[in-house]
Amino acid sequence: LFARPWEFITSVKEMHQLPVLDGIEIAFAGRSNVGKSSLINKLTGKKALARTSNTPGRTQMLNFFGAEHSMLKIVDMPGYGYAEAPKGMVDAWTSLIFDYLRGRSTLRRVFSLIDSRHGIKKNDLDAMAILDKSAVPYQVVLTKADKLKPGQLQRMKEETLKVLAKRPAAHPEVIATSSEKGLGMDDLRAEIAQLVSY
Ligand code: GDP
Repeated sequence: LFARPWEFITSVKEMHQLPVLDGIEIAFAGRSNVGKSSLINKLTGKKALARTSNTPGRTQMLNFFGAEHSMLKIVDMPGYGYAEAPKGMVDAWTSLIFDYLRGRSTLRRVFSLIDSRHGIKKNDLDAMAILDKSAVPYQVVLTKADKLKPGQLQRMKEETLKVLAKRPAAHPEVIATSSEKGLGMDDLRAEIAQLVSY
């Protein structure tokens, strides 16, 4: 799945621009700066596939990536939770995400990225509420795990699982990752391979 070279397919700002339903999609969501671009780049082994959050323009769109002859597509969802985001922008984010999630039969799972140091915050819960409402399965991936000591990371995992236990569409396992150190990438790849195989 990840051996083939990954390429950018398209950016979507409006629903009519969505690629036709074909193959399998997984999506990555998270607050801006959570480490989403770094994770996608690490996962696909392509350095600048997903642009970092300080590249304006593409950041408010759904970005699709794929590899030739592969049924798997990766969708980079726009980051949320900019401190100074005007309400109109938040509303636009919400409706784009909602429209995408609704009836996207190719979408197998959303990986909901959470910074290991911060845990689940209010705007993460808001995003999870949209996923629950759309009945799209999602799994939490903790990022920047290299920033924590093993004991701290374990506690963060447990705390996170406790929060997720009450959420209907949440997957009951979390994966801790570090794009910097490569930690958890095999686990994440294995999880994705499983999604593709059934
Ligand atoms: P995005 O806004 O979610 O796409 O986040 P980026 O991937 O651009 O990362 C935001 C910042 O976090 C950058 O300064 C990255 O270098 C840093 N970062 C990302 N992943 C990791 C990680 O695994 N470990 C550490 N220590 N820093 C990371």
